[in-house]
Amino acid sequence: MSKNIVIAIDGPAGSGKSTAAKNLAERLGLIYVDTGAMYRAITYLAIQKGIVNDRNSVIELARNVKLKLKFENGITRVFVNNKEITDKIRSAEINDKVSDISKIPEVRAELVKIQRKLGEDGNLIAEGRDTTTVVFPDADLKIYLTASIDERARRRHKEFLEKGINISLDEVKANLEKRDKLDSERDVSPLKKADDAIEFDNTNISIADEIETLLKKIKEIDK
Ligand code: C5P
Repeated sequence: MSKNIVIAIDGPAGSGKSTAAKNLAERLGLIYVDTGAMYRAITYLAIQKGIVNDRNSVIELARNVKLKLKFENGITRVFVNNKEITDKIRSAEINDKVSDISKIPEVRAELVKIQRKLGEDGNLIAEGRDTTTVVFPDADLKIYLTASIDERARRRHKEFLEKGINISLDEVKANLEKRDKLDSERDVSPLKKADDAIEFDNTNISIADEIETLLKKIKEIDK
């Protein structure tokens, strides 16, 4: 890359944002920021402490937690207060609660601060729900990634089965639909396509073809 570009990807749950972002980060030597992992980490801690329904305590937690992401060998490792919680943040329980935590404006403000700090020097690719609209509104390239609900559910279901977690396809689909609704209808930083984002539907496209197409777009802006 000739300049310190910032790329932002948003889209609904299971649309392949992290697969695309990881791939591009590795190919282009960019820092990868999985913003969803941060909301998941706060949710995990709130459940652990039994404070998920206590808004003020959740805000307090978000303000004081020491949160660190390390992208290594294709995996985002997540640490809170120096303790690794990578394996804990993708459970069905977290999926069920995370949208209630992520709609709290004060929690978002804390996490956005961390995300922007990571992006200070550029050379970064971030993905989530508001990275194109709120976190990095001046990103060099904005992508809105989508896929049909059935395809997204099928992908997430496969991931669960591969991890040995027994859950039905219907349950996975219902959770995706619920999160998309909550994430798109909330007052602060709702999921939506930024006006200047390119929309990419990957329902019927292989990951390899998707990455090739996105790399071409990146080359165009990196002139
Ligand atoms: O991307 P992922 O599925 O890990 O995100 C988990 C949840 O975190 C989303 O459903 C959403 O509620 C929240 N999130 C958000 N803003 C972001 C990233 C994630 O509100 N930028």
